[in-house]
Amino acid sequence: MKNIILIAPPAAGKGTQSEILVQKYGYTHISMGDLLREVISSGSTLGKELKNIIDSGALVNDDLTIELIYNKLKTLEGKPFIVDGFPRTMYQALEFEKVLTKLNITEYVAVLLDLSKEEAVKRIDGRLICKCGKSYNIYQDNLKPKVDGICDKCGAKLEKRDDDNVEAFKKRYEIFQTNIEPIKEHYQKLQKLEIIDVNRSISEIAEDIEKVIK
Ligand code: AMP
Repeated sequence: MKNIILIAPPAAGKGTQSEILVQKYGYTHISMGDLLREVISSGSTLGKELKNIIDSGALVNDDLTIELIYNKLKTLEGKPFIVDGFPRTMYQALEFEKVLTKLNITEYVAVLLDLSKEEAVKRIDGRLICKCGKSYNIYQDNLKPKVDGICDKCGAKLEKRDDDNVEAFKKRYEIFQTNIEPIKEHYQKLQKLEIIDVNRSISEIAEDIEKVIK
């Protein structure tokens, strides 16, 4: 199985598809958003700064994300991974190549989940998350929790993410659109890019992803 770099606009289903791959193939899922939220949970000064940036929908400092990804990948010792939400800028993409070379990682595919803005808005509006990492959507039948507002997996109360509001979403989506073209070209040139249409069911998307990672 190839390592996966999962690139997608907000609410494209990165978390859901990653969970399927983790369960089926034993991938380690590395979400940059989660790594940053871990720093926020620590309550440090840096964490407080990050919370303000993330809640506004803006991107955090590139060098911090590169440091976080390097430190995490280094612990995996060759086990297959999914990196989700990174790179989000061209600078990150170029620095990421250096990180992969340094760690001797050559087998990977960049999977771009392609989603229309209208669909993304709908998904953001319905998204609920649990502290255990599971994500739900009240507007998608196969993503609804069994009991309203409660996590199927651990029984905790579901919450809305602070940055899942219309203003922050618009900003996150615009930033994604502005940055994605050079990143797409970068992976196209390296012949590593696979584009998957995600305006479809979860299982159809998962099947397509499975075809490109084998
Ligand atoms: P996510 O959980 O992937 O939706 O990310 C949540 C937020 O974390 C984003 O809106 C950004 O503020 C920040 N973030 C996540 N990944 C990155 C990245 N690669 N570069 C900069 N900021 C990021």
